[in-house]
Amino acid sequence: MSAFDYLVSRGLPFVPRPLVRHFSRPYIAGESLDDAIGLLTALNGGGYLATLDVLGESVHRREVAEGAVREYLGALRAIREHRLDSNISVKLTQLGLKLDAEFCLANVRTLVREAAALGNFVRLDMEDSSCTSATLDIYRRLRDEGCDNLGVVLQACLRRSLADARALPGGASVRLCKGIYVEPRAIAWRDRTIIRRNFSWLLEDMLERGFCVGIATHDEELVWEAMRIIDRRRPPRETYEFQMLLGVDEMLRGIIREAGHRLRVYVPYGAHWYAYSLRRLKENPRLARYVLLDALTRRRA
Ligand SMILES: Cc1cc2nc3c(=O)[nH]c(=O)nc-3n(C[C@H](O)[C@H](O)[C@H](O)COP(=O)(O)OP(=O)(O)OC[C@H]3O[C@@H](n4cnc5c(N)ncnc54)[C@H](O)[C@@H]3O)c2cc1C
Repeated sequence: MSAFDYLVSRGLPFVPRPLVRHFSRPYIAGESLDDAIGLLTALNGGGYLATLDVLGESVHRREVAEGAVREYLGALRAIREHRLDSNISVKLTQLGLKLDAEFCLANVRTLVREAAALGNFVRLDMEDSSCTSATLDIYRRLRDEGCDNLGVVLQACLRRSLADARALPGGASVRLCKGIYVEPRAIAWRDRTIIRRNFSWLLEDMLERGFCVGIATHDEELVWEAMRIIDRRRPPRETYEFQMLLGVDEMLRGIIREAGHRLRVYVPYGAHWYAYSLRRLKENPRLARYVLLDALTRRRA
């Protein structure tokens, strides 16, 4: 970590709450489900797919996890009621993974079954490496139960991801990303070039296996590389999509859509925006720099 990154991460807790809110505004739909539904409607109107994330993670009480399940059930019903093209993304530590894996499994099962009844889909976000095996295990167990409206995430920074991809069941739906968590070198690639090349390797490998792949990146070089791979392999249109976070590089978002690819926007919402924003920024000083620089650029524009 550079001295600048260290200062950014140490200084964040002292940033006034309204300022954190200001910085995080472009990246969060709002605090209520109504805010999120309004945003999904606008995104769908602009030709984008979406995935909805109820902010929250690392819950320490069962009631809080159960509250998150209720919020997600409401979101799934609202998506259906408003005929929106959006699935949901869930963090397993928000659904109780660190409390009791069986309790968490039951919570995910509830969401996946309701989503199936409503013709929808659930993506299990991937958290830090302490959650990787448990998340893949829950994914596999639900697939074994016959749930096929369920997907998972693999991180190109982890050395284990290629083996994990190859161990997934046929027809898997995988979001591929670089990985946001700072991991020890023993288990993670650190070099940016290697992470990019591993991303491409994983993408090729998963397309070869017939997986549905969500290509989640704002890195223009990787977007170009993915377009090159897609042009060469010609996978069916419904078996891949690009994915980007709300508020990040909307111009690139438009460029990908104009090139004729499907693009899904990740839309977080909820009351826990402060903890989420601060934690994200603290966990990854690089992200803190993006957010600060982006906010400054917007002010000047
Ligand atoms: C749809 C989606 C879902 C994701 N889900 C997960 C997940 O489940 N688990 C996980 O570990 N990680 C997840 N990530 C995060 C991902 O792992 C990367 O940390 C993040 O996307 C940055 O890497 P990049 O590929 O965009 O390339 P980078 O080279 O890091 O970024 C490229 C450019 O994008 C801009 N940028 C990137 N991120 C941001 C940001 N947050 N705010 C402002 N500008 C930004 C910067 O300008 C940067 O120069 C997800 C990312 C996306 C897009």
